[in-house]
Amino acid sequence: MKTSAASERQTFTGHPSALRPRLLRAIAEAIESEKVHGKAMRGDLRLNEPMARHTSWRAGGAAERAFFPADLDDLVVFLRALPRDEPVHVTGLGSNLLVRDGGLLGTVIFTHWALREVRLGRASASGGELCAEAGVASPKVARFAALHDLAGAEFLAGIPGTVGGALAMNAGCYGGETWDIVARVTTVDRTGVLRERTRNDYEIDYRHVRLQAEGGRRKAERNHPSEEWFASATFRLRRGPGAESRRKITELLKRRIATQPLGEPNAGSVFRNPPGDFAARLIEGCGLKGRVIGGARISEKHANFIVNLGRARAADIEALIALAERAVKEKFGIELEREVRIVGEA
Ligand SMILES: Cc1cc2nc3c(=O)[nH]c(=O)nc-3n(C[C@H](O)[C@H](O)[C@H](O)COP(=O)(O)OP(=O)(O)OC[C@H]3O[C@@H](n4cnc5c(N)ncnc54)[C@H](O)[C@@H]3O)c2cc1C
Repeated sequence: MKTSAASERQTFTGHPSALRPRLLRAIAEAIESEKVHGKAMRGDLRLNEPMARHTSWRAGGAAERAFFPADLDDLVVFLRALPRDEPVHVTGLGSNLLVRDGGLLGTVIFTHWALREVRLGRASASGGELCAEAGVASPKVARFAALHDLAGAEFLAGIPGTVGGALAMNAGCYGGETWDIVARVTTVDRTGVLRERTRNDYEIDYRHVRLQAEGGRRKAERNHPSEEWFASATFRLRRGPGAESRRKITELLKRRIATQPLGEPNAGSVFRNPPGDFAARLIEGCGLKGRVIGGARISEKHANFIVNLGRARAADIEALIALAERAVKEKFGIELEREVRIVGEA
């Protein structure tokens, strides 16, 4: 077993005993698997990686293990080597994520460090395809499309996450939603199998995406995390002048600066808007604008945003979320649904 090779590749920020011997063995075997798969693992495996460094809220606990793949092949090798019972969390830029203060058990995989290729695909007279790996920042897709006179991706300029996160959330704004422009996606599952899928394979709704095969909207399954993640997407866009797209992007960003507390760490809208209403209006209607718990505050600029005042714990943010839910239920009889994903141990 080439544990030395494994150790060289690991950045130990915690006690080495935190790495389960079985996991270490499995990863070492993967490194040796050149004979089997013709591939060696090249990514970076770290222990006790503070998730506050990787979430836009800049709060929360550490990931037990964090893997930064070198590229998609490397991710596949890593996934093949992981024990089947190892919890896996795939994350982009953490712009919709709250990790509780007790941290995350298992392995967090970071796409943004490696899956960063964006290129043009097939072209036709009326439009063209744009292919982006899951770790590409969504605003980069918007700019790349504009640069090549492709229209329809401008809204992505306002969504500060990755393509993978935008696919998982069906992220959208100003009338555009991610899956409106998706032609197909490539996914990778926890055994490293790659698949091509289309929109028809998913149940897609407002900030909701679920593989039909994993149970669609059935209540009991809804919050069970998927074990098949997005590796890349092909967007189908129409032809349109880049100058017009750039004008739209500038306009959209100006509106965001005017209405959102972008100077303080946040995760965008905390709650989905209920049908025909706005979560911000309801929270403001409960007099909660500006309410502080610990180091977190319900933004005075936009009541559906919670900002980190500097030293917020994830528990402060979660307490404000629970407070808003209770208050809106009591005053308006409406149950707010969370848009942000909350994970980890309290
Ligand atoms: C200032 C601000 C403004 C925002 N405005 C908007 C907005 O207008 N509209 C909007 O929809 N959102 C908005 N958001 C929220 C956020 O940017 C989006 O949800 C974004 O798409 C999340 O991408 P991410 O890479 O940061 O995902 P993360 O936060 O890292 O992850 C979010 C979820 O997606 C999953 N995920 C991430 N990558 C993958 C993958 N490759 N495969 C499968 N699952 C994956 C994660 O497991 C997690 O459950 C805003 C956030 C901020 C901070």
